[in-house]
Amino acid sequence: MTTERQKALKRMKELVETISYHDQRYYVDDDPEVSDFEYDMLVKELERLESEHPSMVLPESPTQRVSGAPLDEFPQVEHKISMLSLDNCYSPEELRNFDQRVRKWLEDEPVEYVVELKVDGLSIALLYEEGMLVRGATRGDGRTGEDVTSNVKTIRSIPLKLGPSSGLATAEIRGEVYMPADSFRRLNSEREEADQTPFANPRNAAAGSIRQLDPRVAASRPLEAVFYALSHSDGSMPPTHFQCLEALRQAGLRTSPYVARFRSIGEALDHIMTWESKRDTAGFEVDGMVVKVDSLDQQRRLGHTAKNPRWAIAYKFPPKQMTTKLLEIRVQVGRTGALTPVAVLEPVEIGGVSVSRSTLHNEGEVKRKGLMVGDYVLVERAGDVIPQVVKPIVERRTGDETEFVMPTDCPACGSETAREEGEAVRRCVNASCPAQVKERLLHFCSRDAMDIEGIGPSLIDQLVDSELVDDAADLYSLSPSDLMGLEGVAERSAANIVASIDSSRVMGFERLLFALGIRHVGGTTARDLARAFGDIDAIISAPEEELSKVPGIGAVVASSVRQFFDRSENLSLIERLREHRLSMTATMPRSGPLDGMTFLFTGELRSMSRQEAGSLVESLGGNVASSVSKTVDFVVAGESPGSKLANAKKLNKKILSEGDFIDMAKAG
Ligand code: AMP
Ligand code: ZN
Repeated sequence: MTTERQKALKRMKELVETISYHDQRYYVDDDPEVSDFEYDMLVKELERLESEHPSMVLPESPTQRVSGAPLDEFPQVEHKISMLSLDNCYSPEELRNFDQRVRKWLEDEPVEYVVELKVDGLSIALLYEEGMLVRGATRGDGRTGEDVTSNVKTIRSIPLKLGPSSGLATAEIRGEVYMPADSFRRLNSEREEADQTPFANPRNAAAGSIRQLDPRVAASRPLEAVFYALSHSDGSMPPTHFQCLEALRQAGLRTSPYVARFRSIGEALDHIMTWESKRDTAGFEVDGMVVKVDSLDQQRRLGHTAKNPRWAIAYKFPPKQMTTKLLEIRVQVGRTGALTPVAVLEPVEIGGVSVSRSTLHNEGEVKRKGLMVGDYVLVERAGDVIPQVVKPIVERRTGDETEFVMPTDCPACGSETAREEGEAVRRCVNASCPAQVKERLLHFCSRDAMDIEGIGPSLIDQLVDSELVDDAADLYSLSPSDLMGLEGVAERSAANIVASIDSSRVMGFERLLFALGIRHVGGTTARDLARAFGDIDAIISAPEEELSKVPGIGAVVASSVRQFFDRSENLSLIERLREHRLSMTATMPRSGPLDGMTFLFTGELRSMSRQEAGSLVESLGGNVASSVSKTVDFVVAGESPGSKLANAKKLNKKILSEGDFIDMAKAG
């Protein structure tokens, strides 16, 4: 090997190690050490070296996470050690019985228990050989599962190579793949945006994603994994389960963050009880707790039945499903005019939350589920907050139930509705339909869009009904006195709302593009478009085929974007927003235009206070430092700057004037 190649290989190894370390900090420990910007620079350098020396790409390189072509089907794999199920119980009494059985079997030896959250996802077995991840398999029927290695590799919290200090090298590790509650919500709203059927619950979403035949699709799904068992290790096994978990952590695997060990079943029970009421705070679906005998020696002696180990039991929490009566199906009009049937339910408590409404998505869904008004229905509260009607309880029908008929006129404005070919959704064709106007405004103000605080449905109703506001641009001409007469708006809140509207101007073009509420344009698509075209004028003048050339944007989205900008009322809305000084130019990649950049301010600024400047930087994704240091990227010098400026110059930092800084922030 030439020395140049040797040097490159050495650097590639270093980079792979450093990036894996930062992945671990970010995805496993939730405690990143470097900014996204610095991280991206490392990845870029590695990608460059790898493209120059393709034969030397390391198998554990983070660039290898998404690889391989789509499959026709998954190969079957046989589990060396069967993946058993868990025995279940639902009451303290049953759990005490479990403890008695265990102690009887062990002839009253002292027993310690480890208690873990039972994550509701799907189980996965990882095989590492000499430290390298060689296989990931689903449970299947317990004996044979599916080889989903290429999808497992896309999960960033799963190390491609085990940390050497753990002592684990050739080992089988078991855990659960799941979708966190907030990711689930986001994925579902993106799917709805794209007219795809949303997933019923996070478990289905996780299962559907890990069983994607195309690894690129799997990679786009926000999956996580936690590991709860070391089922086999070629080296020595630690003597207890608790220590096995410790070894997994050392190897760089995520384990349940809430593992606890107890000397008696009574203490374990107390712990379980405190979790029952907290289950929604975990950030993922928790369907119970698992109690395990800690000593592996005791586990071996207890053994297992045909189905379950005798040394563990799942304490299941009450299901998040209940039956209740479907009183009415009401039809709501959304911001794109879509008519959405919504189930009005007899209020029922599910997992501590009262549920009285649930979206039925579209008329096809009502038919598919076979729902009739007056039915008793099974309702599931999946993924933290979104209640779903699962199915009717046909056995409870009395004959008084009535068929649901989708209205042909808009229930809000009476205009006609239309259903385009191949679409599941019927829409009101009247663009100035008050229901649509209100929904568009609500969307514009929502958190992921312009994030305008203090504007909710009731205020929007009043603003539209009193003709103060017709569209988003009108918001920017509101004064506190316009708002003060409205119900529920006091002097103070009027001023706050106007301030919040005002500060939304700097939200960045990507958000604005999303906030416009163009059909099929979710947050990700808006970012893709902004990045590809750079500003609004380029998008407005782009022909449909050019739009569809952008990666991630298909024909449907392109046509929808084109239609939006072909309408004169939308163009005039854009012009008025521009007059209100909203940004129409794309910012930089990743979340904010100043993402990963650190600013230091010195001297007095003219157009804003230092504090305001600081919040502006933060709102755009940047950081503010208080002294000159290695991490500072830019020093903004106001009037009569202090000694910091001199220091910064010595360290060759980039110095910006106030004007430069504002241009940079505005570029957002
Ligand atoms: P069940 O599917 O209800 O029979 O429960 C058994 C399944 O619970 C196992 O196959 C695992 O996939 C899953 N599980 C979730 N969390 C844990 C955990 N901490 N320990 C063991 N199994 C778990
Ligand atoms: Zn209408």
